[in-house]
Amino acid sequence: MTSLPEIQQIEKKIEALGSTGRAEILTYSELGDLRFPIYKVSFGSQDPKAPVLGFVGGVHGLERIGAQVCVALMNSLAELAQWDATIQQTLQNIRIFFIPTVNPVGIYRKTRCNPQGVDLMRNAPIDADNPQFLLGGHRYSKKLPWYRGELGAPMQLEAQALVNAVEKEIAHSSLAITLDLHSGFGLQDRLWFPYAKTVQPYPDLHLCYGLKELLDRTYPHHFYRVEPQARNYTTHGDLWDYIYDNHRGRVQGQVYVPLCLEMGSWLWVKKNPWQIFSAEGPFNPLKGHRHKRTLRRHNTLMEFLIRALSSPQAWATTEPLKMQQREQQAKELWYGER
Ligand SMILES: [Zn+2]
Repeated sequence: MTSLPEIQQIEKKIEALGSTGRAEILTYSELGDLRFPIYKVSFGSQDPKAPVLGFVGGVHGLERIGAQVCVALMNSLAELAQWDATIQQTLQNIRIFFIPTVNPVGIYRKTRCNPQGVDLMRNAPIDADNPQFLLGGHRYSKKLPWYRGELGAPMQLEAQALVNAVEKEIAHSSLAITLDLHSGFGLQDRLWFPYAKTVQPYPDLHLCYGLKELLDRTYPHHFYRVEPQARNYTTHGDLWDYIYDNHRGRVQGQVYVPLCLEMGSWLWVKKNPWQIFSAEGPFNPLKGHRHKRTLRRHNTLMEFLIRALSSPQAWATTEPLKMQQREQQAKELWYGER
């Protein structure tokens, strides 16, 4: 049977998990003879109210590096969970999950879209304000990239599986953060927060400002550009906008921060211009040393997010005055308001 190296790595790790982790198959993504499981691997507290941190990769098949970084982070955490007393203690209070290959057929076929030709990150039933032509999502034809799927059709199997899994994880959680790993835009690694659908500030802006401020203070030499996604472009059907809005509409006092890591792949192309002619070239680091460097590049970010989740008082304030102040600072920084 055909397999993917990323899925083989996940399965190998699952076999070695013992009692430190739990694995689940969310669904199977299929096309003709191809059939791949979409795994979720979780560590830590099983209390539904526990704070949750989730890592997601491979939504866009062509951006294979996202799935690979997600697997690398999962492997490291699985090892730490075996021997590191600090992490073991942390995991008694929080839960961390990984869904590294959301679109495995896309990864296998080196396509952005899923087996039905749909861009999963344009597939949620959400319309954006003034999205860019085509790139922002469209319904013209699945032969063009960024196809949203048919109007009124149910969400694609892979998108629905991801939404269900994340919603289940965060439903009762006091505090949740997810990080979805992508590549293909810009020269710098960016951490994007909502919205993708509008350039208007999203309701929990103060949280992202608090998190950014904490990251800047803790790692002043970090290389991430933290900003709202819509500052770059707006899109229809973003799954994280959808999950965030649903969650926010349903619960009071529970905090959820969906983040995307957009790895700056143009830098890899700039350093190795020939790779633009390879199918995977524009989206992935092809040279061995650059690939390895990318796989370890985000370890500090994972560690930071684990710590931030465990110590929310450092950034997720509930003091009304402080919230207001941070929101104002965020509007000045990202929205040009004074
Ligand atoms: Zn992407």
